[in-house]
Amino acid sequence: MFNKDATDNSTYNVENYEFIKKTSPIVGSLIEQEYNRQKNNIELIASENYCSEAVLAACGSCLSWKYAEGYPYVRTSGNTSRYYGGTKFVDELEEYCCDTWRKVFNTDYHVNVQPHSGSQANFAAYKAILNPGDTILSLTLDNGGHLTHGSSVNFSGKLYNMAFYDVDEKGFIDMEDVRRKALEIKPKLILTGASAYSRIIDFPKFAEIAKEVGAYFMVDMAHIAGLVAGGVHPSPFGYADIVTTTTHKTLRGPRGGLIFARPELAKKIDSAVFPYAQGGPLEHVIAGKAVCAEEALTPEYKEYTKQVVANCAAFCDEFIKMGYNVVTGGTDNHLFLLDLSEFPFSGKDLQDRLDEVGITLNKNCVPNEKRSPKETSGVRIGTAPMTTRGYKEDDFREVARKIDAVVKEMVEEA
Ligand code: PLP
Repeated sequence: MFNKDATDNSTYNVENYEFIKKTSPIVGSLIEQEYNRQKNNIELIASENYCSEAVLAACGSCLSWKYAEGYPYVRTSGNTSRYYGGTKFVDELEEYCCDTWRKVFNTDYHVNVQPHSGSQANFAAYKAILNPGDTILSLTLDNGGHLTHGSSVNFSGKLYNMAFYDVDEKGFIDMEDVRRKALEIKPKLILTGASAYSRIIDFPKFAEIAKEVGAYFMVDMAHIAGLVAGGVHPSPFGYADIVTTTTHKTLRGPRGGLIFARPELAKKIDSAVFPYAQGGPLEHVIAGKAVCAEEALTPEYKEYTKQVVANCAAFCDEFIKMGYNVVTGGTDNHLFLLDLSEFPFSGKDLQDRLDEVGITLNKNCVPNEKRSPKETSGVRIGTAPMTTRGYKEDDFREVARKIDAVVKEMVEEA
């Protein structure tokens, strides 16, 4: 869409908002303004990316209004299992989408491509294997977990009995603590994966502990899925019973979710998605997910994921050289966290100030957080979107110095 110098390469989107303006000047203009914001800002939000125009076009296609409640199952049963007619092509599309995702992760796991989001995927995954009140052992929000990993304000914290493992004093997941708590609590599910964790997750060790205590093991790889696809992060396949993900972060696809599961869980997963959690699948987004999967199979995408990780290492290194406190002292993936506890302002203050100068990132809790999640003592920084726009290591080092200049101004003002 746009390259690193914010030049607009689009052949699709520009005319599109002009087209929308003919019917709705307000909506068209708001999209245009957001488009320009995305183009002109330095986007460092670790959970965002820019998807391709092919993905965008698929998501804006005539599939938007096609109803197809149910599943294709044409190949497995010889019959479609939909509650609507006219599904011949979307049946083929959905099966193709499933096959392509299996190729991306080189797995024979069952895949369900219908979840509308990562949260919906997690909701259905838990439902497939747990009853309300069952115990899940997971990572807290403060230490990098997601809302759906047991936050008290989310369905997960309300429906299930949550227990949490900790990170050590440097911020690494404490595998001894995972084992100790698993043995003590005997959870039905051990969950890992995170929204703000910058280190390689030890899937074999988690699987070993889950086996020892007779728990299911689930990985929510929403953030790192693209890195797993590109071969720059170890894969949870073969270790986890269930793997969930979003498709819009490092995978660079449309907003949505996927669930992978060992084949014996296939029926439970499918019925937990439809009819339990959702109605009609978003076939237009499934088309976008299929295009995204094809893109993830290309050599260019593999190069991209390597560059995301190399950029992140350089970016993080520049902050460390300037004396910043980085949670865990570094990064292995596409993100890292600056701990601002020593500074006279919050993560939110820095987020707001950077917004004013065209740098977008988000406030984030840090381990042993003292401030509220609305304020926080840290910021989360990711390299996936700007790498899509062609940024290399030196570009990110320069952005680190720009952020440092803003921090210095804020310190002086305090
Ligand atoms: N899981 C993880 C680890 C996430 O980071 C996120 C979103 O940030 C989700 C799940 C939820 O995804 P969604 O926003 O699509 O519901």
